[in-house]
Amino acid sequence: MARVVVIGAGVTGVTSAYALLRRGHEVTVVDRHRYPAMETSFANGGQLSASNAEVWNSWGTILKGMKWLFRKDAPLLLNPSINWHKYSWLSEFSAQILHYRRNTIETTRLAISARRYLFEIAEQEGINLDLERRGILHIYHDEKSLKRAAVANGLLNEGGLERYAVSPQEIASIEPTLHGRFAGGFYTPSDSTGDIRKFTQGLAACCQRRGAALVLGGEVEAINVKPDSVSVWVRTEGDGRHALRADAVLVCAGVYSRRFAAMLGDRINIYPVKGYSITVGLPEASDQRAAPQVSLLDEDAKIVTSRLGPDRFRVAGTAEFNGYNRDIRADRIRPLVDWCKRLFPAMSTAAIVPWAGLRPMTPSMLPRVGRGRRRRVFYNTGHGHLGWTLSAATAEIAAEHIETSAGFAQ
Ligand SMILES: Cc1cc2nc3c(=O)[nH]c(=O)nc-3n(C[C@H](O)[C@H](O)[C@H](O)COP(=O)(O)OP(=O)(O)OC[C@H]3O[C@@H](n4cnc5c(N)ncnc54)[C@H](O)[C@@H]3O)c2cc1C
Repeated sequence: MARVVVIGAGVTGVTSAYALLRRGHEVTVVDRHRYPAMETSFANGGQLSASNAEVWNSWGTILKGMKWLFRKDAPLLLNPSINWHKYSWLSEFSAQILHYRRNTIETTRLAISARRYLFEIAEQEGINLDLERRGILHIYHDEKSLKRAAVANGLLNEGGLERYAVSPQEIASIEPTLHGRFAGGFYTPSDSTGDIRKFTQGLAACCQRRGAALVLGGEVEAINVKPDSVSVWVRTEGDGRHALRADAVLVCAGVYSRRFAAMLGDRINIYPVKGYSITVGLPEASDQRAAPQVSLLDEDAKIVTSRLGPDRFRVAGTAEFNGYNRDIRADRIRPLVDWCKRLFPAMSTAAIVPWAGLRPMTPSMLPRVGRGRRRRVFYNTGHGHLGWTLSAATAEIAAEHIETSAGFAQ
């Protein structure tokens, strides 16, 4: 049995804690917020989407990004100010174009394996996450993007995913509430959606019941790694600074994992890629009928949607390279609301809750899971735009690494 301190109570930290507890280890989870899932795992797009496993490292993305540079409502926004972290990340991102094919297939496989764990956990622990298993429908507005999508579809199929082309007529029958003209789409019946915050908070409570200690409202300030132990220094309001002693530390700190890695002698180049969501309240029966049930991905607008129970509809999108800034900008929220008005004109947008979060993105878009340079240091982080989709699988891999790491896990 190992004593493990997990830094971060987002979806990656909490699923890792759960995987470790199930293997019989002693776990402490630390997060600076009063509750779990208060940062990027709060109000994301909701998609558990193997169908969105295509990595963004392609010349197509770069050309599109350049075209969008000067449009305020574009799905991608880059603050051009000089910043070493941003530009070094972008150059590493470009270097990964070489591995587009391999990384897309690998992500697809990981996403497929994650489903089994996630559904099993939710069922066994009785967690209500507003799970919808109606598939994900990708829609394309023009022939050119549809044609390009067929190439990526081949890679997703190669990764083991059943995803097939659908005609405009089939789109209308899969999701009858959709308005507009589409060139065609792709449908993945096995994909699903759910509320990441409900799941993460539900699972954190379950970890506590299984014996984990949750140190909430605790800022991790320093980590000392010695040959025989690890000390994680935490500052909590009221109690001051104290050390949590353990056999290993697992870093699941989202966009802040890069700083912890630097502290621990590792390099993990995570950039905070900002995104926005709106949660549309559907109070009336007429709104509930007018909102889609099937999860959507509008490839041209780069928008994803999820139906969260009868009375909430989540719409998320945009990628902004603007540092750690979390401000909710009205001019970035407006395109999401306008998109709803265009595609679902009968659905009221009178009650929307806007949100912004930072995707912890590595240049390869693959998460970093495993041991660091030092024996007692582990990572499960850098899940980018797919943390909800992948974390149930990467938690198992991280737990496995800790367990098999020689010397302290017995
Ligand atoms: C707009 C948007 C839409 C998205 N849509 C989807 C989607 O549809 N499907 C999908 O799969 N993924 C989606 N994602 C991505 C997904 O939400 C993230 O990958 C995932 O939430 C990251 O989880 P995490 O645990 O790594 O990070 P977080 O949830 O941010 O957790 C990290 C935790 O570490 C804590 N922490 C950091 N530093 C310290 C410290 N010094 N001391 C104590 N605690 C600390 C933080 O407080 C935080 O709670 C989306 C993201 C965004 C922004």
